[in-house]
Amino acid sequence: MKTNKIEYAVIGGGLTGLTIGYYLNKANKNVHIFEKKNRVGGVIETIIENGFVYEAGPNTGVIGSPELVSLFDDLKPLIEIEIPKSGAKNRWIWKKGKWNNLPTGLISALATPLFSWYDKIRILGEPFRKVGKNKDESIAQMVRRRMGKSYLDYAVNPFISGIYAGNPEMLITRFAMPKLYNLEQNYGSFIKGAIKKAKEPKSDLEKRVSREVFSIKGGLSQLILALSHEIGYENIKMNCKNIAIEKKEAYFILNYTDLEGKSIVFEVKNVIITVSGSNLPSIIPFVSEQKLKNITNARYARVIQVVLGYTHWKGLKLNAFGGLIPSHENRNVLGILFPSAIFPNRAPETGALLSVFMGGINNPDLILKSDEEIKVLIISEIEETLKSENIPDFIKIFRYFNAIPQYEISSAERFTAIDEIQNEYKGLWIAGNLRDGIGMADRVKQAKQLADSLTKNIKKD
Ligand SMILES: Cc1cc2nc3c(=O)[nH]c(=O)nc-3n(C[C@H](O)[C@H](O)[C@H](O)COP(=O)(O)OP(=O)(O)OC[C@H]3O[C@@H](n4cnc5c(N)ncnc54)[C@H](O)[C@@H]3O)c2cc1C
Repeated sequence: MKTNKIEYAVIGGGLTGLTIGYYLNKANKNVHIFEKKNRVGGVIETIIENGFVYEAGPNTGVIGSPELVSLFDDLKPLIEIEIPKSGAKNRWIWKKGKWNNLPTGLISALATPLFSWYDKIRILGEPFRKVGKNKDESIAQMVRRRMGKSYLDYAVNPFISGIYAGNPEMLITRFAMPKLYNLEQNYGSFIKGAIKKAKEPKSDLEKRVSREVFSIKGGLSQLILALSHEIGYENIKMNCKNIAIEKKEAYFILNYTDLEGKSIVFEVKNVIITVSGSNLPSIIPFVSEQKLKNITNARYARVIQVVLGYTHWKGLKLNAFGGLIPSHENRNVLGILFPSAIFPNRAPETGALLSVFMGGINNPDLILKSDEEIKVLIISEIEETLKSENIPDFIKIFRYFNAIPQYEISSAERFTAIDEIQNEYKGLWIAGNLRDGIGMADRVKQAKQLADSLTKNIKKD
């Protein structure tokens, strides 16, 4: 049997794996991506049909890390960044049967019915409140302590639903929102910290990091296509079934079954795994079950994304980014994005495209409902919340059983287990959204930093 020799094997061809592959390849390293499906991109997938351009997975990211800014620069002119239209900046929050704009400044924060008067006055004292001492404080505990319950219920809770599909009572601030945690720890207050941080000197790249939302012209799959093109399709192996790694003295043996059922073998110096936790035991069987337990027990939110396309939209004017629904409003929907309002050319001129998110950590069994049951639920939610008067031309349902890992209290043990495995097996790396953040900006940051550190290490040797 022929054995191929390579320097780096990246397991999983999602955004993390492809970005690692891209930067290793750019540094002239011999790298191959091994993906089990017949396409790369992982949860990122843009579908173009009948005048609509829609996403099956993430719709937008935030330009939230210098590494993402660098990647966009590096991939020019293969990709063109899109930012929201000026009329689509507002976020709506549902309260007692009505949408309200999420405040963006002091005046709107005082005027909004979302927060109680008690909390509006109390927020003035936020800069003077004591710094928390419990390092394992949940996001909910921290926000209640510093800002008040109504901020938790009508700003942070829906925001956490939108990002983590999670529960702020369970997410630990220092793991799930480290920037927020550090604002309090380093500056004593969110408000003081935000003001001081804005004044700190920044590199040119850091100056371009923002809270601005992005997509890519033509949809997020264009980013995947650009990365794949640059890596070279000859270096991307798809349809790799039953990938299993064996540890040898100074290298690894990677084995998989191809589409024709043939066993393919690679001798590899370094292996970088970017798949979700439950896939690890079969890929690295030489690591003990006991060691892997603290990684495989990561809890994931289940998410259903329902995309609705209307050739003609008759309903509320969709002049916003989308709407989020706080959990105690007890609806079947976490949030609705309005992609056709945010970006050009996502739906016909008179039409609309909606992306509705359902399920999440608080409603895990919704994903088990049939398509017909979900459609009935969705139609009634859209009629009630967006006053739609007509039925959509199409409804597409995408289910994710392992959508978003939750950075709960067990995360500390997970991060330690990953470090221990990496230390014990030199040349083995466990990346992906099990650590270092779940957003696309975090994924690119981790991937670029890992690739940079690996290529620097090699140069040193
Ligand atoms: C519905 C949804 C909405 C989201 N919305 C946003 C958003 O609005 N903004 C944002 O910034 N982020 C969002 N995210 C998060 C973000 O999209 C992900 O964190 C990121 O894309 C994950 O990339 P990844 O490469 O780490 O993982 P994945 O995309 O999961 O890729 C992992 C890859 O590994 C492959 N694989 C798995 N097992 C094996 C195996 N045994 N052998 C070989 N290959 C294997 C998979 O097929 C897949 O291609 C969203 C995620 C989901 C699911």
